[in-house]
Amino acid sequence: MTQTPTIDRDRLTKIIIDLVSIPSVSDDELEIMEFVAGLCEGAGIEYTVTAKDPQRPNVIASIGNGNGPTIAMNGHLDTVPVSDEHRWVTPPLKGVASPDGRMIFGRGSADMKGSVGVMLYTLLALKDAGLNGTLQAHIVSDEERGAEFGTRHVLEEIEAGKLPRPDYVLIGESSQLKVRNAERGIFGFQVRFLGRASHTASARVTGVNAIALAAKGILAIEGDIDKEHPAVGRPVISVNMIEAGVANNVVPGECTITVDRRTIPGETDETVLAEVRAALDAVKTDDPNFDYEITPSREEGYTPANITDESSPVVGALQEAIREVTGEEPEYFATWAGATDGRLYRFAGIDTVGYGPSGQNAHGANEAVFVDDLITQAQVYQVLARKLLA
Ligand SMILES: [Zn+2]
Repeated sequence: MTQTPTIDRDRLTKIIIDLVSIPSVSDDELEIMEFVAGLCEGAGIEYTVTAKDPQRPNVIASIGNGNGPTIAMNGHLDTVPVSDEHRWVTPPLKGVASPDGRMIFGRGSADMKGSVGVMLYTLLALKDAGLNGTLQAHIVSDEERGAEFGTRHVLEEIEAGKLPRPDYVLIGESSQLKVRNAERGIFGFQVRFLGRASHTASARVTGVNAIALAAKGILAIEGDIDKEHPAVGRPVISVNMIEAGVANNVVPGECTITVDRRTIPGETDETVLAEVRAALDAVKTDDPNFDYEITPSREEGYTPANITDESSPVVGALQEAIREVTGEEPEYFATWAGATDGRLYRFAGIDTVGYGPSGQNAHGANEAVFVDDLITQAQVYQVLARKLLA
């Protein structure tokens, strides 16, 4: 059993307050990345800057001797803007610690400068620890708006052989100190219900009201889905848009709904479509006028659910590190398994797991991160790195 590392609370807090105090809304990440590069420079940590757009750089920092696996911690420094300054009790673009030191307020504190601070702290703390292998931080821009200039660019450079390919990736997005080894997939599709337009006066004779068909169809597919995966919980289906009707006196001939379906590992777009068709075809047996067609949504597309299996060394090492540091059995982050840049590493074939702190009001007013969680995170990251790079 490794000894639980001691974390210098003041030093960690200072790094995070500095990060939160540099505004870095997506598209404006240059200054904060220069700060990160300067911090590495000053501490004698090797780093490279890689950028698709020089105004939106990413810093790849590394420690270790290279004689072993490479672990990359990934965190983004871009934030969403502040749109409701009047609701904030502290200046939103400044890192402000609460008087008891247990919280740090400011835009980006929870999502996810607190966690990036832990990554930088971890590099500083383990710089001379004699790690066998490489511990990296991929500090990226552009997570909030699709990652083209951030993690997607970093992965392109890895594929092109310009950056070392990590064996394992650790994502620091908020996870309430739970293990986030999988993410739900996203599949958008539309169902067009096909009625027959007519004059209202003859609605019962020549008309087939497509809105009425849609009402039956929606009730058939919208609701709880009786499946569950331990890592991400249940799949979700939600009918989120509806469009129909041309005039007050015309029975609508068509009605289109847009559906957002979140998948769990084991499901695909094909299995989802088969389920939806089965549910709608069951309506058809009772109503000869019921007719529909399904088209996958071009906008949403399909992102498969993705998982790094429990048997992966990085998941095992994380679980062990959590046990050692907290004395508790690790849990999966299944309650709100939204997407992170972790999916991009998984799609590139790299074992990836998430572990990050709790925060409050990410993207909202009075966003804050809990310092005790950051300290636990820092301890777990150190223990994990020492296990995989022993
Ligand atoms: Zn985030």
